[in-house]
Amino acid sequence: MAFEGLASRLQGVFGKLKGKGKVSDEDVAEAMREVRLALLEADVNFKVVKQFISSVKEKAVGQDVMKSFTPGMVIIDIVNKELTELMGGTQSKLARANRPPTVIMMAGLQGAGKTTTSGKLAKLLQKGNHKPLLVACDIYRPAAIKQLQVLGSQIGAPVFSMGDQASPVDIARAALEEAKANNNDYVIIDTAGRLHIDEALMEELRQVHAVAKPDEVLLVIDAMTGQDAVNVAESFHSQLELSGVVLTKLDGDTRGGAALSVKAVTGCPIKFAAMGEKIDSLEPFHPDRMASRILGMGDMLSLIEKAQTNIDAEKAAEMERKMRNAEFTFEDFLEQMAQVRKMGPLDQLLEMVPGMNKMKGLKDMKVDERQINRVEAIVKSMTTEEKNKPDLLNHSRRKRIAAGSGQTVADVNRLIKQFDDMRKMMKQFSTMMDGQKGKKGAK
Ligand code: GDP
Repeated sequence: MAFEGLASRLQGVFGKLKGKGKVSDEDVAEAMREVRLALLEADVNFKVVKQFISSVKEKAVGQDVMKSFTPGMVIIDIVNKELTELMGGTQSKLARANRPPTVIMMAGLQGAGKTTTSGKLAKLLQKGNHKPLLVACDIYRPAAIKQLQVLGSQIGAPVFSMGDQASPVDIARAALEEAKANNNDYVIIDTAGRLHIDEALMEELRQVHAVAKPDEVLLVIDAMTGQDAVNVAESFHSQLELSGVVLTKLDGDTRGGAALSVKAVTGCPIKFAAMGEKIDSLEPFHPDRMASRILGMGDMLSLIEKAQTNIDAEKAAEMERKMRNAEFTFEDFLEQMAQVRKMGPLDQLLEMVPGMNKMKGLKDMKVDERQINRVEAIVKSMTTEEKNKPDLLNHSRRKRIAAGSGQTVADVNRLIKQFDDMRKMMKQFSTMMDGQKGKKGAK
């Protein structure tokens, strides 16, 4: 999980403060020393750390923290706000051209995730009812064009390519014509990257820039590379005015330095964050939500948004009705699991729930997706009748299901027991709810 070290250290520091009835100046000074160390260890640029700490201290003095009833909470609040500011304050949205198409040029070093991110961005735009055109201008990396074409066909977005013999400038020019002819309102240009920044690369990017006149120049950087990513951003920015940054691989074990320093060092806002290899793992970057996550305050807003975009409201209402009437079957159970899984990897979802990362044992727990696959296999080996009438499941049927799903009879028994318990609980719950309703009605 990204930011794990930083998050647990900061939460440790603030946990101590919160636990105290009275906080002395010395306590605050000690806390600030620890915050400073934690940020440095997370690979945050040292100048940024210095500025951050002095800003927090200044605000703490200004707000007369010690006079407050809950000094610990006031300090956490100040740190939360400063972390948010550090990452850009508010969400920085994608530019939009007055006259379509809006042109987005993607830049970055090889391997940062440029091509993948181009596909993800197209998918995100499609979700907002846009019609993006992907443009293959990386003519050097073997297979980059093919990779973009595969991504395009996966999401049903057109990919413009002229092979690897035409120049990127010509490709960009022709692509804009193509977008106009086909009413594409966004053009995403995937450019070439190198292992290191070199003059030839910059010159080519400048030429593509001159022709494409992009509304956005997004630099894709790999969060796992920490300060290196920030240095890359600085040099790209000095040669090719960037409008924003996309941080990739935030799902990995990154310490967080890049996310926390890049805005302060380059002045470029982080516009998107990528948290996985899957095509729908790109999200608009919200500094406030990221700060809350780092401080262990959860990110319920992102969770709710995910639920809203991925869970079918009608199905959810139907499910609720079934639960109330205790009509819930294995078929529904599978359906519900599928809905939750659409929201993304379970451990990423859990991270967004406030306090979850502090729960004993949960921190090191990797949600075992295989376990869920096993449950799915068992349910899928049942006949429709069995799924709808779980009482039919006698021993010989259970043996057949175990063999069919490649699990043991004990696994099958366990699942059926869990399911039965769940149904009993639902029954009790709905009786309770009905009781409540009755009371209200009697008034
Ligand atoms: P490019 O050379 O910049 O175009 O990089 P690619 O798009 O080919 O990506 C390089 C590698 O990073 C690929 O294996 C991607 O699957 C992987 N990758 C890209 N973004 C992410 C991400 O957010 N998380 C993870 N785990 N892998 C990513």
